[in-house]
Amino acid sequence: MRSGRCKGSERCSFALLEGERMAIRKIRYIGDEILKKKCKPVVKMTQSTRGLIGDLFDTMYEAKGVGLAAPQVGILRRICVIDVMDENPIVLINPEIIETSGEQTDDEGCLSVPGKVAEVTRPAYVKVSSLDQDLNPVIYEGEGLRARCILHEMDHLDGILYGDRANEPYRDLEEEDLEEEEWDEN
Ligand code: ZN
Repeated sequence: MRSGRCKGSERCSFALLEGERMAIRKIRYIGDEILKKKCKPVVKMTQSTRGLIGDLFDTMYEAKGVGLAAPQVGILRRICVIDVMDENPIVLINPEIIETSGEQTDDEGCLSVPGKVAEVTRPAYVKVSSLDQDLNPVIYEGEGLRARCILHEMDHLDGILYGDRANEPYRDLEEEDLEEEEWDEN
């Protein structure tokens, strides 16, 4: 769980600094054809790609998500950001699964499918190879929610929504769950 871990300073560079202009992008919702498309690899790190990564973090935090993939803001590139609040946030660029093991079943939600949840069974552990923001190779590992989030975001890069893998149809997020969430925020 430590390999390829981002340094603390990287979080600062993405965190919303006071007075800094936030760049929140519009999140695409289920039904938008772009969410079904396969993304292209990143071959060069440009200013606009760096800007996109910053915007993905801003947009994810603003929407109170734990992960966001570029196609969810309409960009068909193999980039996603993850922050499950247990470790430092990570950026995955051109990620590939190296290894998975075990199994976990739990409710999952998606910023592109608002107000819905469904039960999804996924591996309990995942190891991925990726590129960092300077396009150097890195290895990330995850268990539990972190593994679930990595796999969920990587699916977006291939045009797969969690509903395609779910054990049941989407169901409404129950009112008590929403109340609980609101309560947590206070
Ligand atoms: Zn999603």
